[in-house]
Amino acid sequence: MTQLHDRIAQFRKMATDDPDNELGHFRLGQLYMEANQFAEAADSFRRTLEIAPQFSKVFQLLAACLLKLDQRAEAVEALKKGHAIADERGDRVPRDEMARMLQELGEGAPAARPASSGPGGGFACQRPGCSYVPYARPLTAPPVPDEVGQRIQREICADCWNDWLKNQSIKVINELHLDLSDERAQAEYDRYMFDFFGFEGPAAVKQS
Ligand SMILES: [Zn+2]
Repeated sequence: MTQLHDRIAQFRKMATDDPDNELGHFRLGQLYMEANQFAEAADSFRRTLEIAPQFSKVFQLLAACLLKLDQRAEAVEALKKGHAIADERGDRVPRDEMARMLQELGEGAPAARPASSGPGGGFACQRPGCSYVPYARPLTAPPVPDEVGQRIQREICADCWNDWLKNQSIKVINELHLDLSDERAQAEYDRYMFDFFGFEGPAAVKQS
């Protein structure tokens, strides 16, 4: 027991000396849990999540502490939030554990991302070099209301679409000085988009 308390003191010092190190706070929280100091553990996990809000496993441990402290509503809230983040990131072990805890609390199983045929269970994005496989997520609706939009939804993951929309398309418009009210400029834009997604067409519109 004294050994555990020594380690807690050590990590508490580390968390104080290096307050933005999420792993220091995380480790301290785990040690507090071992020592049954759940209120202190919960504080450490909350601090961890302030620094690293995507660290999905921390929500699971925070919820476990809150349950020990009879703070059921807060625990459920942490589990739902953590489950959504874990699901989005493809952190399947904490995701499934948080789903199990929610069910145990009578909250019902939260909706998980639909299973599909991708290599790791994620969406099978067709974009060459998609960096989100095996945890790619599908788009929930066609991003543009036409046939191309339907094809994008079928073949391209949500993150690749966002990458196109937020980064690449703006670069293309700016660098090529495209005025999209002009038909030729629109065709040029579409060609870049098709290249980006690895679609074979519409090569026919390429006149230059
Ligand atoms: Zn993708």
